[in-house]
Amino acid sequence: MSTPSGNAIDITLATDPAGPVEGGEAVSAAKAGGNPAAGSKKNIFDLDRVSLEDFFEQVLGEKRYRAHQVMKWIHHRYVTDFDQMTDLGKALRAKLHEHAEVRAPMVIHEKPSADGTIKWLIGMDPKNAIEAVFIPEKNRGTLCVSSQVGCALNCQFCSTATQGFNRNLTTAEVIGQVWIAARQLGNLPHQQRRLTNVVMMGMGEPLMNFDNVVRAMSIMRDDLGYGLANKRVTLSTAGMVPMIDKLGQVSDVSLAVSLHAANDELRTELVPLNKKYPIEELMAACQRYVTRKPRSSITFEYTLMKGVNDQPVHARQLARLMRQFDNATQMKDAAKVNLIPFNPFPGTRFERSAEEDIRAFQKLLQEARVLTTVRRTRGDDIDAACGQLKGQVMDRTRRQAEFRKTLEAAGAGDAAA
Ligand code: SAH
Repeated sequence: MSTPSGNAIDITLATDPAGPVEGGEAVSAAKAGGNPAAGSKKNIFDLDRVSLEDFFEQVLGEKRYRAHQVMKWIHHRYVTDFDQMTDLGKALRAKLHEHAEVRAPMVIHEKPSADGTIKWLIGMDPKNAIEAVFIPEKNRGTLCVSSQVGCALNCQFCSTATQGFNRNLTTAEVIGQVWIAARQLGNLPHQQRRLTNVVMMGMGEPLMNFDNVVRAMSIMRDDLGYGLANKRVTLSTAGMVPMIDKLGQVSDVSLAVSLHAANDELRTELVPLNKKYPIEELMAACQRYVTRKPRSSITFEYTLMKGVNDQPVHARQLARLMRQFDNATQMKDAAKVNLIPFNPFPGTRFERSAEEDIRAFQKLLQEARVLTTVRRTRGDDIDAACGQLKGQVMDRTRRQAEFRKTLEAAGAGDAAA
C-alpha cells in the first residue's frame, strides 16, 4: 500500500492548460467547500434525513418534519440560501443562519466529451480536487462518483493509485458531486430524471470511507434526496471483506466487486489487497451479501489487460468461479461479469486487450452460461474512462511525465527517474 504522501497540490496554481471550458466555473480554491476543518456551523450537506431531523429537534428545537422541507429545497430545487426557502418562517431562517450552512464543493472545471459524457473537476479544499463523470445512455444517465482523494490500495493498473492516498471525502463532498451534476443537468427528482443511476466507481475505495459513503448513499436513495432505487446505486469495491459484511447490515445497494483475476497469484499481483482478503474469503463475503436479498446479483468487474489476464485459460478460471458462486448461492445468475477493456494512462506498463481477445473472452464466459457484458469506453477523449480519474494531481503527473520525456530526450533520463 502506498502511504499518504505529498500529493496534495495547491489547486489555485494547477489549472488545466486548456483553461475552463464554456459553462465551467473557475473558482477561488480558497472558497472550495467541504473542508472538514472549515467553519463551526453544521453543513447540511453532511446530514441524511435522520441526522437532519435530529439536528432540527436537538439543536434548533424545531419539529422534525421541518427537515424535510429543507432537504427538498436543497436536493430537488438546488436552493442553498435559507432566505430563498420561502415556506420556512423568518425566525427559523434566522436560527438556520446561526447554526447551519449549505456548502457544496466547488466546480473548478467542467469538461464535456464528444460523446455526451461530462467530467467535472471539483475542489474540496485548497489542496484537494477530485473528479466525477456523467455518462448519458439511451435509457439512463449514470454518474460516477469519487469517495476519496486518491486511493491507498495501489491496484497496479489504476491511475488513481499512482497519486497515493490523501484523505477521505466527507458526506457533503460525496453527495455534493451528485448535487452538482443533478443541478447542471436540470434533473428534477420524481419528474424529469436525467440522472438515473449512481456508481461509486470514481476515485478511491468507498468501503474505506464507510460512514460518509453510506450516509451519502442514503441521501441518493431517499425520496427527499434523489429518489434512486437501491438497484440504481452501485458501490464498487476492490474487496474489503469485513466492510462488505458491514454494508450488508445497513444497506441494500447493488454491489460490484473488482476481481480482475480468478486465481490468487495473479490477483495479488494486480490488486495487492488480495493478499489480505484472498478470493475464497471474498467470494464467501459476496455470497453472504447476495443471499440477504433474494433476486439480486453481484457484478464482478474484470479489467482486460493484454497478455496479463485475457487468455482463454483466465476466462475458464473465471467461468468456473462464477458457476461456483451461482451454485453456492443457489441462485441463477447471482454472478454477472462486466468486462472492462483496460484504459491506458501515462506511465502505465499495461495495454488494452485486442478486440478479438475481448470477444473470445466474453464468448467463453457466455458458453459457460455466465451473464457477461463488455463496458464500452465512454469519454476517453477527456480522460474520463474507468481508472483514468486522477483529480487535480493528474495534470501534475502528466507534467512530470512530459518533463521526464524531455529530459530523456536530452540524454538525462536516469537523473529524472
Ligand atoms: N476502488 C473501487 C472503485 C474504483 S475503480 C474498486 O476497486 O472497485 C472502478 C473500476 O474501474 C474498478 O473495477 C477498477 O478496477 C477499474 N479500473 C481501474 N483502473 C482501470 C483502468 N485503467 N482501466 C479499466 N478499468 C480500470
